[in-house]
Amino acid sequence: MLEFNYKALPWNIIFGAGTLQTLPQEIEKLGFERAMVLTTPQQQSAGEDILQLIGTKGAGLFSEAKMHVPAQTLESAKSLADEIKADCTISLGGGSTTGLGKALAAQKALPNIAIPTSFAGSEMTNIWAVTETDRKVTARDEVVVPTLTIYDPELTLTMPVGFAMVSGLNALAQAVVNVATDKPNPIVASMALDGIRALVSALPRIKADPDDIDARAEALYGASMAGAALGTGSTGLHHKLCHVFGGTFNTPHAETHAILLPHSVAYNAAATKQGTQRISEVMGVDDAALGIFELAGTLGAPQALSEIGIKESDLDEAAAVVTEQSFNNPEPVTTDRVRLLLQRAFEGLPPEAV
Ligand code: NAD
Repeated sequence: MLEFNYKALPWNIIFGAGTLQTLPQEIEKLGFERAMVLTTPQQQSAGEDILQLIGTKGAGLFSEAKMHVPAQTLESAKSLADEIKADCTISLGGGSTTGLGKALAAQKALPNIAIPTSFAGSEMTNIWAVTETDRKVTARDEVVVPTLTIYDPELTLTMPVGFAMVSGLNALAQAVVNVATDKPNPIVASMALDGIRALVSALPRIKADPDDIDARAEALYGASMAGAALGTGSTGLHHKLCHVFGGTFNTPHAETHAILLPHSVAYNAAATKQGTQRISEVMGVDDAALGIFELAGTLGAPQALSEIGIKESDLDEAAAVVTEQSFNNPEPVTTDRVRLLLQRAFEGLPPEAV
C-alpha cells in the first residue's frame, strides 16, 4: 500500500535563455536596495557584470566563495555584508557560491537570489553547509531556499565541457538516490525521473557540441529537477560517502559524485529493485548501476578515486568515518562492505554488489 509524506519547498523560479536581464526588475519587485553579489575568484568578472546590470541596487562584490563553504570564508563574507549594509545576496555561480548565499541566509537572515551557472542543483534544496577544519557539517532549513532563482542557460555556456559532464553527473546522483530507494515517494520520484531523463539526454549532446544551447537548457532543467528531488527527498550511503571524501580528503565535489554513484547504486541494488528498474527504463539500459558507470565513461568523467588524489591507504579511514555514525540506507551499512565498495571505486572497476 502506498504511503508517503510530502512537503513542498518555497521555490520561485524564472527559467529561460536571456532571463538574467530580468534581474533589475525582479530586485525592484522584491524591494531589495543593497545587494551583495557573491562569486568565486574565477567568476569575479561575471560578478562585476552583475553589479553593472543592477546599478544603484548593488552594494558590493564578495568574490572569495570556495568549495564546501569554509567557516573562515563565511566569516569574511559576513563582515563585508555588515560593512556595506547588504539587505540581500545574489549568488552567481556553481554550488560553492550558492552554498555561501545559503549559509548567509541561515546565519545572517539575508535573503538570497540564486543565479546558477553549473548543474549542481543546490538552489532547489534546503541543505546548507559549513566546513570547520576538515569536517563538513550540513543541516536542512527552509530559510536557505533562495527567494528567487534565475536559471539562464546561456550562463552555463562558459562552463568547460569536462566540468559540465561531472556537474551533470552530480545532479544525476541527486535524482538517482531518490528513485533507487526502499522508501519511494511518488512526487519526489516523478521529479527525479524527469531529471534523469533530461540529464541522460542532454549531457552526451553537450559533450558532442558544447555550444548546443538547447542541450545546455535541458541539462539545467534536469539539474533543477534533481535538486528538487534532493530538497524534498532524502539521502543515504551515496551522499554520506561524498560528504566524507569532500570534507575529510578535500576531493572535488562533482567528480567525487561521478565516481561513486555507480558503486552506491550497486551496493543498494538488492534492496531497491523497483527503483533501480525504473531508472534502467528511463536510461534505456539493462542495469542502472552499470548504465551510469558506462554513461560516465562515455562522457569522459573520471571513474577512479585514484584519479582525484585519493591514496589506497586513505580507504580504511574513509570507510571508518563513513560508518562511525548510523544513517538511513536501504541496505545495512557495514565498514567491511563499504571498504569493498571503495576498493572498486578506487581502482575504477565496474560496479558490483559487495
Ligand atoms: P563550484 O561551484 O565550486 O564550481 C567549480 C568552478 O567552476 C568554480 O571555480 C566556479 O566559479 C566555476 N564555474 C561554475 N560555473 C561556471 C560557468 N558557467 N562558467 C565558468 N566557470 C564556472 O562547483 P559545483 O560542483 O557547482 O558545486 C560544488 C559545491 O556545491 C560543493 O560545495 C557541494 O557541497 C555544493 N552542493 C550543495 C548542494 C546542496 O543541496 N546544498 C547540492 C549540490 C552541490
